[in-house]
Amino acid sequence: MIRYKTPEEINIMREGGKILAQILQSTAAQVESGKTAKELDATAEALMQQYKVDPLFKGFEGFPAVSCISVNEGVVHGIPRDDLVLTEGDIVSIDAGIRYKGLCLDSAITVPVGAIDSEVQKLLDVTRESLSRGITASVIGNTIGDIGYAIQSYVESQGDYGIVRSLVGHGVGYELHEEPQVPNFGKAGKGLELQPGLVIAIEPMLSLGSYDVDIADDGWTIKTSDNSLSAHFEHSVAITTDGPIILTKV
Ligand code: MG
Ligand code: MG
Repeated sequence: MIRYKTPEEINIMREGGKILAQILQSTAAQVESGKTAKELDATAEALMQQYKVDPLFKGFEGFPAVSCISVNEGVVHGIPRDDLVLTEGDIVSIDAGIRYKGLCLDSAITVPVGAIDSEVQKLLDVTRESLSRGITASVIGNTIGDIGYAIQSYVESQGDYGIVRSLVGHGVGYELHEEPQVPNFGKAGKGLELQPGLVIAIEPMLSLGSYDVDIADDGWTIKTSDNSLSAHFEHSVAITTDGPIILTKV
């Protein structure tokens, strides 16, 4: 069942989303060679306490931290371990969710550790832009398939990237994960028609190689099967009569 949000709820989610964006930006600002994933998570957790928002990931199906920190071939769900030390040239995805005044927000960014290769920078740029294309397609009268199509057709125009298929975006608000699923590929005009009050997390995950993924030895981290580098960007977005509203931005 899809649970549409009222304009008042969307306003609350915009306030909460601003806070989550600040938390992600401030955590990303701590990324440097020699830092551990656990230290980044500690920063995010301290900020959540400071803003008096509840972490959504900690305890979710037993997840041990407030953020997922996924490095290089890690796609999503990376555990912020203290033996995971960032090194110049790595890319690190920071994914976090909060509950604010009863409503859930979910967002992720991927940032470089120091200088990175130009093809890796392009992976980040194409992933970020594909999210933007998906958001632009999130208008009333379009469908979930139009969002996936916008992401997929842009990515395919940019080169030979893997678009992860087994993980998808989702409805968000009363819970972290709600219906509908929002794939990062699709056919124009197919699937659920977008209506005002639908709030979705759109989250393209791209790789420099195959789109196949596996679970890493830690039992949590989803990584590319061919160990190619992977990037992930996510926003929670409200569909409204005024167009799509990016909730998780400063
Ligand atoms: Mg997320
Ligand atoms: Mg999500």
